[in-house]
Amino acid sequence: MPAPSFDYIVVGSGSAGGVIAARLSESGKHSVLCLEAGTETERYIWSRSPIGSAFMIQNPKVNWNDFSEPNPSHGNRPIHVAHGKILGGSSAMNGTLVNRGQKRDYDNWAQMGCTGWSFDELLPYFKKVENTRIGADKDRGRDGPITVTRYDKITPFFDLFIDSAKAAGLPYNDDYLGDTQEGVAMTQISVRKGRRNSTATQYLAPARKRPNLTIWGGAEALSLTFDGRRCTGLRLRRKGRVEEIRANREVIVCAGTINSPKLLELSGIGNPEVLLRHGIATVQALPGVGENLREHYGPQMKWRLNQSGISFANRGHGWRFLREILRYVTYGGGFIGQGIGGIRVCARSHEGVEEGDIQMVVNPFLVDVIGGKNGVGGKRRMSRVEAFFVTPQIQRPESAGSIHIKSADPSVPPAIDYRFLETENDVRVAVEGIRLARRIAGAAPLAPLIEQEMAPGPATQSDEDIVAFIRNTGTTSYHPAGTCKMGQDSLSVVDAELRVKGIAGLRVADASVMPVIVSGNTSIPTMMIGEKAAAMILADAERDRA
Ligand SMILES: Cc1cc2nc3c(=O)[nH]c(=O)nc-3n(C[C@H](O)[C@H](O)[C@H](O)COP(=O)(O)OP(=O)(O)OC[C@H]3O[C@@H](n4cnc5c(N)ncnc54)[C@H](O)[C@@H]3O)c2cc1C
Repeated sequence: MPAPSFDYIVVGSGSAGGVIAARLSESGKHSVLCLEAGTETERYIWSRSPIGSAFMIQNPKVNWNDFSEPNPSHGNRPIHVAHGKILGGSSAMNGTLVNRGQKRDYDNWAQMGCTGWSFDELLPYFKKVENTRIGADKDRGRDGPITVTRYDKITPFFDLFIDSAKAAGLPYNDDYLGDTQEGVAMTQISVRKGRRNSTATQYLAPARKRPNLTIWGGAEALSLTFDGRRCTGLRLRRKGRVEEIRANREVIVCAGTINSPKLLELSGIGNPEVLLRHGIATVQALPGVGENLREHYGPQMKWRLNQSGISFANRGHGWRFLREILRYVTYGGGFIGQGIGGIRVCARSHEGVEEGDIQMVVNPFLVDVIGGKNGVGGKRRMSRVEAFFVTPQIQRPESAGSIHIKSADPSVPPAIDYRFLETENDVRVAVEGIRLARRIAGAAPLAPLIEQEMAPGPATQSDEDIVAFIRNTGTTSYHPAGTCKMGQDSLSVVDAELRVKGIAGLRVADASVMPVIVSGNTSIPTMMIGEKAAAMILADAERDRA
């Protein structure tokens, strides 16, 4: 039997892959196969509401549930690395917070040799993704698939925090996807009437009726196949069987920052030393595969309030929880319909820095974790303590880690080696983030309502103690990026058209191609990468037909 063939094979259905598979199949001219290692449903119950993320974050049915290697940069702790294993990928389980990062992030990419990736050139693709009433027409998309709404101020906490941030010197920003990110703002979320908008629900669900789009769930790409220096398709495992499929035109790897470098290395594309260690013959030497791993890292700071009715405490319990369910079922409202991170702050660590380098996510509740280890396992529930927490993060980390295979066996997870706070600047920004959060909490009208700083606690004052707190308790934002970076230098893996260097018929398009992580949440930027990748692939196809 000849191997089945498709014009395009898209590996992964996440923020980028879901967009690409839908766009490539839109004209009906090309046959497209979208492979998803995880479950194929876009109706997974916990994926429907934003708060459902809490029930997916450790669930191996829909999540790869990896762990990083412990190292001293983060207190020798393994850090839990959640990433989606379900139709829609991480967009089907993330916190739904919407951000693009700063214009200068993309202008910097263009400066680094990524021609065509300046902000002004990317704006049409950002607009193509979204559908929102927020902001000005010049900045925002009005008819894209992903609905973007604003988090509702459902408790008094939100105005109290915003007013305190203003008192601490931060401006209120009505649309942080407009001219500037800076200031304090109500978060924007990819949610419509309480329902998550993922690439599964908004791109793939409408597209899957097309006869030229095939979606295979439970199908894991194991390695790519080649004819000389051309990628011809791949080997995959589906329903317990290994089979081979062919791509008439291209394979587009969209397996995410953790799994895209893994798939390249398993296929012989990478640093020859890494490949040799696992007995894999080098097809294309690209020493940058798996390098340049960036993340947004930061600790949770917690404050206990001295009055009830300000935070979400108790909304997760008893009759009040039933009321929340009723709110959600009747109009998609309440905290079940909005999820986490109602307020975001973007600020500068010092006067001289040209744009914000600290981001904070602010939540009016605490989560009790009963049992578990390293933040994993155990039961999670809304705490009854009236409190709030803030996670100040370094927006543009200089420290970079790596991801490499540990074995030639595809079932073995890769070694994820995060490196945090390894440069003086990262340490300075991280410490300043803590001090800024304290200045906000110490300003009226919030200050008189605070009973106690619970973490790190008033005793932690010196830079040294603050850094120890950050190293020993910090978590990631689940924003890994950069391990197959785009560019022109010797460590870049793909060119500005996202083609893998030295190999024909193969591209990578997902968060791994970011040469430097964006200063904000990564899902919408990755959907933008998907939109631009699809436009470039289709333009190539048109050129070839002409
Ligand atoms: C818990 C969590 C919360 C987050 N919160 C936010 C947020 O609030 N806002 C935000 O903007 N971003 C958030 N993010 C980050 C954001 O969702 C990701 O950056 C983005 O989705 C990455 O897109 P991607 O296409 O690169 O990868 P993914 O969306 O992860 O997609 C990769 C897909 O490839 C599949 N795959 C992997 N390997 C293979 C293989 N070998 N064969 C077949 N399929 C394979 C995976 O199963 C997955 O479906 C969060 C992420 C997580 C995990």
